[in-house]
Amino acid sequence: MHEAFASAKSLIGLREALQMDGREAVQYEVRHLNPRVLKLWEFAGLGESQVRASGPFIWDEKGKRRADFFGYAGSLNFGHNHPRLQAALNQVSEAPNLSEGPNVLAAVLAHNISKLAPGELTRAYFGNSGTEAVDAAIKMARAVTGRPGIVSCQGAFHGRSIGALSVTDRADHRQAFEPLLPGSRVVPLGDAARLEEALAAEDVAAFLVEPLQGEAGMIVPPDGYLNEARALCSRFGTLLVFDEIQTGMGRTGKFVACQHDGVVPDCLLLGKAMGGGLMPLSALLTTDELWRKARGEETASPFHTATYGGNVRACAIGIAGLETLVEEDLMARAEASGDYLLERLRQLQSRHPVISAVRGRGLMIGVEFAPPEIASGLAGLANSSPSARADARQLFVGLLIRRLAREHGLITGITLHNPNVLRLQPPLNMDQDLLTHCVDSLDQSLEYLARFREATLEALPDILRFLQTGSLTGAYE
Ligand code: PLP
Repeated sequence: MHEAFASAKSLIGLREALQMDGREAVQYEVRHLNPRVLKLWEFAGLGESQVRASGPFIWDEKGKRRADFFGYAGSLNFGHNHPRLQAALNQVSEAPNLSEGPNVLAAVLAHNISKLAPGELTRAYFGNSGTEAVDAAIKMARAVTGRPGIVSCQGAFHGRSIGALSVTDRADHRQAFEPLLPGSRVVPLGDAARLEEALAAEDVAAFLVEPLQGEAGMIVPPDGYLNEARALCSRFGTLLVFDEIQTGMGRTGKFVACQHDGVVPDCLLLGKAMGGGLMPLSALLTTDELWRKARGEETASPFHTATYGGNVRACAIGIAGLETLVEEDLMARAEASGDYLLERLRQLQSRHPVISAVRGRGLMIGVEFAPPEIASGLAGLANSSPSARADARQLFVGLLIRRLAREHGLITGITLHNPNVLRLQPPLNMDQDLLTHCVDSLDQSLEYLARFREATLEALPDILRFLQTGSLTGAYE
C-alpha cells in the first residue's frame, strides 16, 4: 500500500470508504460537507446511509427497504440501477470515454431525441447538469437576438449557476449573489397579458418557462397559456425556451410536457432523468436555423462546450434510456399511473380537509397542505430564530414525510419553493401495488397527524434539534 494510504491521518481507500459504518461516515460528512443536509435527512427519517438500490427500492445500512417516491427530485424515471442502463455502461466499458475524433454516440443521441421531441429540434448541445443547459439557452438567445433581457416566471426554479439563478425566482437564494444578470425579470405564470407587456419593448432575448412548474409546487399552467406564449414570442422576436429538465423524459406521460399542448419551443432543455440516475447528462435542443445564427460565422468557436459534455458513457446511457422509455412503454405507464394516483389523492382530499390541493400530470404530482398553526408553541420551546419560526409553520409536511419513511417504508419530499407541498415522483414503471400502498399510507399518516399534538410531542427531540440547526427549505443546499 502506498504510504499516504497507510498513514493513519491520510488518504482513505475506496474499499475502506465503502466499508465504513454509518456513524464513522457521518463524522467525515460533518467535517467536509454540509451538515445541515444531514440534519434534514435525519429529521425526514432517513438518517442511515443508503447502501443498495434496485428499481423502486432503496435499502439502508440496517437493511430497511423503502420505496422511492421522491426519485431524487424527479430524476429517477427508470428507477434505480435499471438493468438496461447498467448493460449500456458495460457495453462501452472499454471505449475511450473522452477522445478526439467523431463522437458517434452523441450524434445518435441527438438524432434520437429529435425524433421524440416536437418540431425540428435537430441540433444539440450536451452538458452535465440542468443548470448548464439553462446557461447555454441564455447565451444562445442573447447570441441569436442580440438582446439582453430574459423573462422567466414567478416561482420558477432553473438552477444554481449565476445565469440560471438570474432566472430563478427565489429572493433568499439570490440575495447574497446580487447583482445577477442585468435584464432578467419575472412575470406571473399563466398571465398572457403580463407576458405581452414584458415582451412588447422587443428587448427580450428569451422567455424561459417550465411547462409544469416543479419546485414552485407542481403547478400546471392554465390551458392555452403555452400556446399564447408561443404566439407572443414569435410576434416579438423572443426565443421560447421550455425548461423540461424535470418534466421531460416521459415524466408527465409524454416525452416532454409541452406535447400535451402541441407547442414547439425554439429551445428545449433536458437533464435529470436523461442520465438514468447514473451519469450526469443534460441537453439543449434547438433548430438548425437558430443554431447557425448563434454560432455566427466563427466555425471554430461553438457557443458553448464543457469537457465532459457528450462523453461516451453518458451518451450510451442517454441512448439506452430513450430505448427503455419506448420499449417499456413508460410514457403510457406514467400517464395511467398518474391518473390513478391523482384520482385516489382527490378522494383522500375529500376526507382530509388539511389537504388544500392535489395537482400534477402523469407522475409529477403535488399534494398541498394547509397545516394547523403550531409555530408559536414550538418556537417558544426552541427559543429559535425568526427563520426557524417560519420553518416551524411548515413542519406538518416534514412530520408527514418522517412518518411515511419510518412507519410505511416510503421516501417522499417537499418542493423546494413551497415546503407545504408533498411531491410524488416515483419511477415511471412503479408497480400498481406500491402506488396503492403510497395512497393508503398517506391516508393512515394523515389520520395519525390529525392527532398532531401527540405526533409533535413524539418527535420533539428531533424537532428541537432541527429548529436549532436546520431549515426545511434548505433541502438542496
Ligand atoms: N431546471 C429545472 C426545472 C429543475 O427542476 C432543475 C433541478 O431541479 C434544474 C433546472 C437544475 O438542474 P441541475 O440540478 O441538474 O443543475
